[in-house]
Amino acid sequence: MEYQAATKCLHLKERENVEKAFGAISFPIYQTATFAHRGVGESTGYDYSRLKNPTRDQLERTVAALEKGTDAIGFSSGMAAIGAVMELFHPGDHVIIDADLYGGSVRLFKNINVKNGISFTRIDLSRQDVSDYITDKTRAVFLETPTNPMMHVTDIQKLAEITRNKGILLIVDNTFLSPYFQNPLELGADIVVHSGTKYLNGHNDAIAGFTVVRDEELKERLRFVYKTTGACLAPFDSWLILRGIKTLALRVEKAQENAFRIAKWLKEQKKVTKVLYPGLEEHPGYEIMKKQCRGFGSMLSFEVESEELAKSILNKVKLIQFAESLGGVETLITYPAIQTHADVPKEERLENGITSRLLRMSVGIEDAGDLIMDLEQAFYSE
Ligand SMILES: *Cc1c(COP(=O)(O)O)cnc(C)c1O
Repeated sequence: MEYQAATKCLHLKERENVEKAFGAISFPIYQTATFAHRGVGESTGYDYSRLKNPTRDQLERTVAALEKGTDAIGFSSGMAAIGAVMELFHPGDHVIIDADLYGGSVRLFKNINVKNGISFTRIDLSRQDVSDYITDKTRAVFLETPTNPMMHVTDIQKLAEITRNKGILLIVDNTFLSPYFQNPLELGADIVVHSGTKYLNGHNDAIAGFTVVRDEELKERLRFVYKTTGACLAPFDSWLILRGIKTLALRVEKAQENAFRIAKWLKEQKKVTKVLYPGLEEHPGYEIMKKQCRGFGSMLSFEVESEELAKSILNKVKLIQFAESLGGVETLITYPAIQTHADVPKEERLENGITSRLLRMSVGIEDAGDLIMDLEQAFYSE
């Protein structure tokens, strides 16, 4: 019998010997760079912390269990994880990416990977047929769902049928929903990536990233990139993320409840011209979300009637913080046009609907009434 996700956040089936030795409930931090050998050709299983560290191992096993993969790797950031995945490709390879992606991923693809001979085609995977864009050079499709910040939803299972037939990799950045609400590997994806900085950690106090796979060969290839390029997650930060994950279930459930309340309040405001939250029935991705996820998350975007109002809201919020990032217990609001998506060319940004009137919220776990009261004064106070 397999544990449910909320239990897996706290307990792995394989209890550690080390935990047993002293009965420690919190997994120890192995703050060591290297490990002594018992004899020639004998290893404890750990040689050097860039390759493997017991605290990071425990975290990786937890993330693999939550994502229903066989191997997770803990990186020093989400970008390091995505960068490592891109090392799987060679000059001449072609990758199809979704038109609406985290700005840092766009910057990586356009400035680093292109320089190394990889080419990209941007399409709206939630609307366009990927088959029309696959060539004999295409090696992978990379997407987020729901997307950042436009909340487009793509049917992962449908896409996976196509990529599998063509023998190309399907890579899903699952940061926005966390493994608690969505498991792309189960839907046919080959690689899941995460910014562990966001919901997995959940406390806005550490940076981390993950890759998760099921396939043995992919596991070996990614582990090789990992030990060679070295963007490993430190023992203490591994412990922080492990601690954060303990409350993942409670946090994302409460944040989702708050997001629903805020989305409904926003819909009633005349000054709001658009509310993008995939939990609203009128959202174009609602039915797909219901089919492929166990929840709708707590990210939402909305458009207001003018740029002046958008800026004034950012200046006036008090409880809600005007800050980048997402997925933490504190509610944050950001301005994608000049923050997270500043590195996306203006035409692409506007084509995607990221106007100067669009704001994005990462809803936290505060009292929903307090959050709405703060929005109310930010919208209407002189
Ligand atoms: C934040 C983020 C990243 C990058 O992760 P870092 O931990 O900041 O390096 C990648 N994808 C998405 C969707 C993100 O929100």
